[in-house]
Amino acid sequence: MVNKPETVYTVDMIIQKIIDDEKQYDLSKIMTSYEFAAKAHANQVRSSGEPYITHPLAVSFILLELGMDTDTICAAMLHDVVEDTDTTLEEIKKLFGQDVAMLVDGVTKLGKIPLFTKEEQQAENVRKILLAMSQDIRVIIIKLCDRLHNMRTLHFRPANKQRNTALETMNIYAPIAHRLGMRTVKDEIEDLSFRYLDPYAYSEIESMLEKKSDEREAFIESIKKQISERFKEAGFEHSPQIDGRVKSVYGIYKKAFMQGKHMDEIYDKYAVRIIVDSVYECYNSLGIIHDMFRPIPNRFKDYIATPKANMYQSLHTTVIGREGIPFEVQIRTWDMHHTAEYGIAAHWKYKEGISGKDKLEGRLAWIRQIIEAQQDTDDVEEIVRTIKSDLAPEDTFAFTPKGDMITLPIGATIIDFAYAIHTQVGNKMKGAKVDGKLVSLDYQLSTGEIVEILTSSDPNHGPNRAWLDICKTNEAKSKIRSWFKKERREENIVQGKAELEKEFKRNFIRVPDEELANFLADDMKRHHCATLDDFYAAIGYGGVILSRIMQRLKDKFAKHYAVPEIHEAKPSAAPKKSDSGVIVEGQNNLLVKFAQCCNPLPGDEIIGFITRGHGVSVHKKDCENYVNAMNNGSEPERWVNAWWANSTKTNNSPIFRVTLDIVSKENILIIADITKVMAELHIPLTDISVRMLKNGNANVLATISTAGVSQLNNIISRIKKLPDVISVDRSGK
Ligand code: MN
Repeated sequence: MVNKPETVYTVDMIIQKIIDDEKQYDLSKIMTSYEFAAKAHANQVRSSGEPYITHPLAVSFILLELGMDTDTICAAMLHDVVEDTDTTLEEIKKLFGQDVAMLVDGVTKLGKIPLFTKEEQQAENVRKILLAMSQDIRVIIIKLCDRLHNMRTLHFRPANKQRNTALETMNIYAPIAHRLGMRTVKDEIEDLSFRYLDPYAYSEIESMLEKKSDEREAFIESIKKQISERFKEAGFEHSPQIDGRVKSVYGIYKKAFMQGKHMDEIYDKYAVRIIVDSVYECYNSLGIIHDMFRPIPNRFKDYIATPKANMYQSLHTTVIGREGIPFEVQIRTWDMHHTAEYGIAAHWKYKEGISGKDKLEGRLAWIRQIIEAQQDTDDVEEIVRTIKSDLAPEDTFAFTPKGDMITLPIGATIIDFAYAIHTQVGNKMKGAKVDGKLVSLDYQLSTGEIVEILTSSDPNHGPNRAWLDICKTNEAKSKIRSWFKKERREENIVQGKAELEKEFKRNFIRVPDEELANFLADDMKRHHCATLDDFYAAIGYGGVILSRIMQRLKDKFAKHYAVPEIHEAKPSAAPKKSDSGVIVEGQNNLLVKFAQCCNPLPGDEIIGFITRGHGVSVHKKDCENYVNAMNNGSEPERWVNAWWANSTKTNNSPIFRVTLDIVSKENILIIADITKVMAELHIPLTDISVRMLKNGNANVLATISTAGVSQLNNIISRIKKLPDVISVDRSGK
């Protein structure tokens, strides 16, 4: 903006501005609105002591500078009369027409929305602003200019009001101005707010800029001169306009203070802007610049091919000048330049307003998205957070393989991308490829990447609760949550229970049903589950990851259930190291233990594992641990060949423990029958238990001691002959 904050606007300035402007205005309608407003505000003064009418005049002037239309100027002139005087909306409608009345009404309503109230109220109010914007974008443009003038004159207001107004401007209005692409307005209200929010930093940066201003100007002048001389040789039809430019105070603050960088590190502190006639000339200019100066890698951005969400387009590159000083170069066409400076207002200034609704659609899509995303949540804090984060200035643009652009906030992951395409794509996602390479779910997308979402055809496939911590957008979060909400709890419980039982069986954990809740109490508490069903449900939807808790449960089980029972009941101690009956290749005096996971018996094919400090542990060759280790290729050198010694094969003492997993039809004598078989065969029985299965069958687990596989096979075939027995398995395969 050209005018100083202190400028007091007069009606003569307005008239002169309208006469000088290329644009056609209805001067008499604007003058009528001025006279009407001047009369209505006649007795009012501002905090500055000036007549009140200077404020509507100032707002109208700013809107004229933006090139807005006659009705917008009239509405600006009248924007405070309904609120502050006896004037009614009806009068305005009669005198100035429906459009002006609607705009005044919109601005009046916006003015009544207090932004810094309770959080819940604040969310609702921001929602109202967004709704007002989606009805006629001119309402918010007037409001932004109203706020701009109020910020320029904020020093007249009481100190306690200054900070709140500045905060509201910084948090709500500046992001909106940014999203509408109105850079000139945004930069100015940001700098003005910043001055009140952090006066110390503001004056520090300001004086730093002033101190170096001569140096800076000399540098930029020399760069401009070099570039324009080179461009003369290049034969452009019109010679490009070359401007030197300094970032806004707040822009420097954001880079320097928030990123903890020193002023010298801020590359684009020096910036040169080149404006040309066509897109072709933009790329041509870029080539010349890169030929003249050395470009800094990874600092080139093509916002022409990929415009920002607010429609900003330019080529950005950072190069190093002959003096070794880096500077940013922005290259754009005049059309892009107007959009970059005025954003949506450029439509009125340079493009005869917004004619069709079509052009507005894209601009307003994000407003609708925010409003829609909010309908699903009652969490007020979240709404406010969303609005702030969705209004955050930077965006990432990634593409589908077909070339559709998806706009996401910085830091968004492939999960956000999937849900941005479609809810079902998100729910069915099992992974993604970025630029052809598989990536992890927390991969953060960068602009320009092509993302292919891989989906599962399994109808039961859905999101994982852990995604909530990974994804960034509110859209993805609310969609994931509603999936869990809708998914039937019963299914989660059944699935979770089955998973837990399977894991328990695999790890030989057997806890009586009545003790299960107690056994799991710690983990239930940790996952905020009040009942076992809650816990099963949590396992079912992935809130509790079994692999993460199994080790703890195994330890707990060993401590409380398994160990004492087995040791006390053991008929004879495990083979001693000297006479373990196992020969381990290359090892003579190592302690040999039999692995608990598979309990190998003489006759089984076995393999040894050299443990760290506890000798050799002997596994069956078909033990899951061995098979997995071979498949994973982990520490193959620690697995060594092992055989049963001959003496063991002929030795018939029943010293090897094994558990039989027996299923039979319901039969109250089943335990008695099994015990009888063991007694007849002189097989020590150390533990026997039975539980009823859901289908009415009985499941008996019997732990016995045996001399080896052949004896065991004999035992198994004897049990199989018992009436009602369905199956007998050696547990731990
Ligand atoms: Mn006002």
